Amino acid sequence: MDGDTRRERLRRHADDLVSQFGSPLYAFFEDDLRANYETLRGTLDDHYPDSEIHFAVKANYNLGILSVLRDAGCKAEAYARCELTATQQAGFDAEDVLLTGMNRAPEDIERALSWGVSHLLVDNAAELEKIIVAANATGTKPDVLIRGNPAMEVPTHPGVATATRESKFGLDIESGRAMAVAETAVESDAVSLAGVQLHVGSQIRGVEPYGVAAREMLDFAGQIRDELGVEIDMLDLGGGFPVPYDEDVPATEDIVEHMAETVRTTCADLGLREPTLFVEPGRRLVGNAGTYLATVGVVKETPYADFVVLDGGTNAVSSYWPYPVYALKDRKPTQKYHVAGPLCYTSDVISEDVALPELGPGDLLAVDRIGAYSLGSASHTNAEPKPPVVLVRSDGAHDCLRKRETCEDVLGRDRIPDGL
Ligand SMILES: *Cc1c(COP(=O)(O)O)cnc(C)c1O
Repeated sequence: MDGDTRRERLRRHADDLVSQFGSPLYAFFEDDLRANYETLRGTLDDHYPDSEIHFAVKANYNLGILSVLRDAGCKAEAYARCELTATQQAGFDAEDVLLTGMNRAPEDIERALSWGVSHLLVDNAAELEKIIVAANATGTKPDVLIRGNPAMEVPTHPGVATATRESKFGLDIESGRAMAVAETAVESDAVSLAGVQLHVGSQIRGVEPYGVAAREMLDFAGQIRDELGVEIDMLDLGGGFPVPYDEDVPATEDIVEHMAETVRTTCADLGLREPTLFVEPGRRLVGNAGTYLATVGVVKETPYADFVVLDGGTNAVSSYWPYPVYALKDRKPTQKYHVAGPLCYTSDVISEDVALPELGPGDLLAVDRIGAYSLGSASHTNAEPKPPVVLVRSDGAHDCLRKRETCEDVLGRDRIPDGL
């Protein structure tokens, strides 16, 4: 859906949403969540039907959003602790949850295994030891997937590249560390070595990294077969599918096609069985489904720039990604504004030099495609309560998925020592 159509759709709901739930707020569209899942599922069905989609819960762990994706047929990739709880509360079946993590508490692993989670990623040797202990304690035998790190070049922001030499994630293949952990898994009766995994990074701006990832990990699978005599059943190529913010990014179809082709040709070259393909998209399933709606309170000219100051800012949306920002007013952009939040930080500017119509107090602005990661990284900077999350249902109804926080939510856990 292009920018103009998104704006028109939002305009139909915005006044109602703000009068019902207040400003600022996060608005999500159920239709987008379902369409995102169905597009990816359909593309996989066309190119590699033996595949499973695990939504990376990290990207949005709101229970309502998770429930829409679960209802659409999606599975879940969860880090331990509260992400695991979120998948339980959102109604996922334990066998549809893939557990990641690089330093999980032993009791979290036990809790997951007792619930019935049967697929766990292994980031390092110590994690595998913990999984083995927990499997013995719970009398379960989970499938483990070894997370590799082939020291790749990854075209994205350095902060969200995960398969690079400098990254803390995964096991180095060349040095033999990954093979040593695979060997421990094969030798243990408590787990079965079921697969290999690689998550390249987030917002990946090319299709080639997925081909490189598939080749590297299948090559590793070939080494496992040759050295340990075990053929893996699952290849997990992680997430990273991009969302268009202000630039052209590869289409999901092109990524999936390239992945599928590379997996088939590499398996044929190496004489490997074609594995079940797992993907773990986060951003791609929720990013374009959410918009931050905020209200202009102050328009302020300075000798340097004209600022519009909203009633919420970088406490609720990151300035790291170039989210599209637009006004809901039906007028042509004639001005350039710096769009700022109200916080007492110089860096509380969501976007600079945005072309907008002339704005005044009360006008609504949209910061669009913020559906991934915003809620999880929203902060209490300046003791600001977090905004509510609302869902525009497919039938047009409006549901509150998370209530607006109050001062009690920000301060209610604090205690004043005796005598003060
Ligand atoms: C963050 C993460 C993802 C999701 O990444 P996106 O860029 O949002 O698709 C998938 N898998 C793992 C292991 C992750 O850490």
